[in-house]
Amino acid sequence: MATETSSKHGKISQYTNQKCRCAACRGAMAAYQRGRRAQPVPASAVHGTENTYTNRGCRCVPCREANTASPRNQRRSPTRLDKVRTAVQR
Ligand SMILES: [Zn+2]
Ligand SMILES: [Zn+2]
Repeated sequence: MATETSSKHGKISQYTNQKCRCAACRGAMAAYQRGRRAQPVPASAVHGTENTYTNRGCRCVPCREANTASPRNQRRSPTRLDKVRTAVQR
């Protein structure tokens, strides 16, 4: 008794929960992710924060500036401070 499994496919739940990677399920997931990416930044998002830039994908000016100003994105070059620190350690 062959069960009709084909109707289950082409769904995100099948892709995520059942780890199915058939063409139909992959297509559903791809469409879902495409839709997600196209989603606008929610109105509740706080702008001017790195979090909104990274997690919400907001690219407005305040968010871009916040991301640029983030210490994680600062190219750290050896500064005078480092030299002072080494000197102090002696
Ligand atoms: Zn499938
Ligand atoms: Zn923003």
